[in-house]
Amino acid sequence: MRRVLTAATTALTLTTAGIMLTGTPGQAAPTGWGRPTVTLAPQPGAPGLGDSYFPDYGNGGYDVEHYDVRLRYDPATDLLSGTTTILATATEDLSRFNLDFLLDVESVRVNGWAATTSTEGAHELVVTPSRTVVRGQQLTIVVRYAGIPSETLVGGYTGWTRTDDGALAVNEPESAWWWFPSNDHPLDKATFDVSVSVPTGVEVISNGVQPRPPLAEAGNRTRWIWRTTSPTATYLAFMAIGQYDIVTDTTPSGQPVVNAYSTSLGALGPAARASIERTGEIVDWESGIFGPYPFEAQGGVAGPIDGISFALETQTRPVYGPGFWRRGANTYVVTHELAHQWFGDSVSVADWRNIWLNEGFASYAEWLWSEEQGEGTAQELFDFTYASYPADSGFWQVLPGDPGAARVFDDAVYDRGAMTLHQLRLAVGDDAFFEILPAWTAEHRHGNGTIEQFQALAERISGLDLDDLFTTWLFTAGRPDVATAARKAGPPAEPKSWSTIRESHHLHSR
Ligand SMILES: [Zn+2]
Repeated sequence: MRRVLTAATTALTLTTAGIMLTGTPGQAAPTGWGRPTVTLAPQPGAPGLGDSYFPDYGNGGYDVEHYDVRLRYDPATDLLSGTTTILATATEDLSRFNLDFLLDVESVRVNGWAATTSTEGAHELVVTPSRTVVRGQQLTIVVRYAGIPSETLVGGYTGWTRTDDGALAVNEPESAWWWFPSNDHPLDKATFDVSVSVPTGVEVISNGVQPRPPLAEAGNRTRWIWRTTSPTATYLAFMAIGQYDIVTDTTPSGQPVVNAYSTSLGALGPAARASIERTGEIVDWESGIFGPYPFEAQGGVAGPIDGISFALETQTRPVYGPGFWRRGANTYVVTHELAHQWFGDSVSVADWRNIWLNEGFASYAEWLWSEEQGEGTAQELFDFTYASYPADSGFWQVLPGDPGAARVFDDAVYDRGAMTLHQLRLAVGDDAFFEILPAWTAEHRHGNGTIEQFQALAERISGLDLDDLFTTWLFTAGRPDVATAARKAGPPAEPKSWSTIRESHHLHSR
C-alpha cells in the first residue's frame, strides 16, 4: 500500500496512556486519510525489505522478473567484469531505488536513459533514474561493472571464494553482491540467464540447463551459457569456475542431469562420484515423500579441494565442499541438499528468522533416508540426538524457530530442528505427517513461507492444536521433557548413520 502518512501530516503525541497518532494541530479533520486525493511526489525506494535479521537485504519499490548476467572472468587475476540486465516492475512511484551490489559500477541505464549512482551502507547501490518511475512501469536496468570479488570486502569478509584454478560464487545468505546487482532477498525470486566467458579449457557451471553448448570466442576464450526458468532466490544462483570433469545424462522423465567434479579432488574424487551420481535415485525417493520435484534440471557440483568447506543447496544443482567425502561416499549430504530443493529453494523463507523451514526439514530428510537405508530409524536418531546433548548444554539455549542473525546455521537449527519434526510426526501420526509435507510444498511452490503458516497447515490437516508442541520445541530455551522407553532402559545405542550425519552437520553449521 502506498504510504500516505508523512511527517508533515502526523505527529506523535506521548500521553500517559502511551503513544497516540494525531493530526497536525490546526489541520482539518482527517477524513481523507488513507484515500489521498492529491498525487504524492515519487519517493525513494526502501533500502531493505525489513527482514527481521537482515533488514537492509533486498530493496523496496520494484519486483524483479529476470536477471541476464553476462560476464567475463579471468582466473589468473580474479577480474570479473560484465553487464547484468535486470527486468523488473515498479511497485511504487520511485524517485530512486537501490540494488544490492559491491563491485565497481561503470554505468547504469534505466529504460535506456543514463542514471546516476552512489553507494550507501555496506552493500547498497543507489540508482537515480533521469526520469521518475511510476508504479506498474516495466523497468530494464542495465548495469556495467568490473572488480576483483576476492578483494572486495564487507567487514573484512567476502562471500566469493577464489581457488587455485577459478572461483566459487556460492554462499548463504550473502552471495550475489560479489557477482551481480540484485534485489537480494528470497522474497523477490526471478529467472536467470548466466553466461560467462573464460579462457578456453576452463569450465563454468551454473543453475538450470545449457540452452546451447559452450561457444568459442576470440582470444582463445569460451563462453558458457546457462538458463534457469524456475523462480530462483538470489542466494541460490551460483557459479563454479575452474577445472571440472562434467558428466551429463537425462533422467527417465527427460530432465537434463549435469554433474561436475573438480579435478583437484584427487583421492576424494571416487567418493564424490559415488555420492553425487545417486542424485536421480534420491530425487525420486524424495519426490515420493515431498511431492513432485519442483525444477527443470538436476545435478551436483563437487567443489575443489581449496574451495568451500560447506555444501549449499544451489537451485537444481547443489555444490558440495570436499570435506563430505573424507570418510568415503556420503549420500546423507546429498539427501540433505536435495531435500532443500523443496524446503528452501521452491518454498523459501519469507524472513530469515524462518531458517528452521530449510534446515530442520533437510536434516529430517537425512533421518528418513537413514531409516530407508536400514542405518537407524528416525526414532533411534531422535533418542540418540536427545541423549547426546546434556540438559545443561548451550545447544538447548538456541531457539530453532528464532535463533538470531548470528546463529542461523547453529547445530540447534539442524538437530533440534529435526527433533521438532519428529515430535510433530509422533503427535499427528504418520498418515497426517506424510500428508502435511507434500501439502506444504504444493501450497507454497515457487514461493515463500513462514513457521506460523506451517503450523497452521499442520493443525488444519491433523485437526490438532499444536501450539504447545511448536512453542516448546522451536521457541523455548531448555531441553524439553520427553518420556521414551529407550531413555528408561538406559543410554540409547548409536545408530549407524549418526556419525556421518553429525559430521555433515558440523560442516554445514559453519
Ligand atoms: Zn542445509
